Parts: sequence; C-alpha cells; structure tokens
Amino acid sequence: MNCREAGRRLSALADGELPAERIPALEAHLAGCPRCARTARLLEEVRTFFRNLPRPAAPPDLADRVAARIRGPGARLLSLVPLLRTAAVAAVVLLGLSTGLLLLRPGPRPAPTASLTADGALELIMDGIARDTLTAEVGR
Ligand SMILES: [Zn+2]
Repeated sequence: MNCREAGRRLSALADGELPAERIPALEAHLAGCPRCARTARLLEEVRTFFRNLPRPAAPPDLADRVAARIRGPGARLLSLVPLLRTAAVAAVVLLGLSTGLLLLRPGPRPAPTASLTADGALELIMDGIARDTLTAEVGR
C-alpha cells in the first residue's frame, strides 16, 4: 500500500467507513511509515477534540415555545399549505394546457417573447379559440 492509499483509508477509518478487513493492511503501512503514522495520530487528536467539545443544552422552555408557535398565528399559515400546493399544481397544469394550445393552434405563430404575462397568454388562447371557431363556421 502506498501513502496515497493509506491516506484514503485513514480518512475512511476516521469516518467509520473502512471495512474491517482493510484495517490490518493500513496498520501494517502505518507501522512502517512515520509520515502516515503522524497523520493518523493527528486525525485521532482532531476526532478526540471534537468528540469532547461541550454540547450546548437546549433552553428548558424550547419545546413549549415551539408548541406555542405551532398553535399560534403561524398555525393558520401552515393550514394554507395544502391549498397553496393545490393552487401551484393547478397553475402548472394551466400553464401546460396554455402552452399546448398555443403550440397546436393553426396559423402563424407569434414571435416568441422573452416573457409572457398571464393576461397575454389568456388573450392569445382566446384569439386562437375565436379563430378556430370562425374557421369552423366558415368551412361549413
Ligand atoms: Zn505512508
């Protein structure tokens, strides 16, 4: 094993992702390579440092405050989420239908514009429907 592979395995070992059967080869390399052995010691020191950091405690009233917020004015907003989701789905469906109608309508297509407002799209759809109706009636 070379030092590059040992470095990868050390990193995997530190993350707890090195398979047990690969540890002996790594240990053999560390026994014969002072540079990688030093890296392994440093990694262990870093792990120990972070493991021993004090864990901040949550304020004792945190759960009560969260529960109060859930029941409070914000709860009304949360209750609108399903409605907003449905409206978003409807908007996407409407946009898809509008685009389909625009693409399928006969006659010259309008030049593509950088942005199309909802009113503009509705007007184009209504123009297309009116033209189709007139074309169908004239064709009879
Ligand atoms: Zn090495």
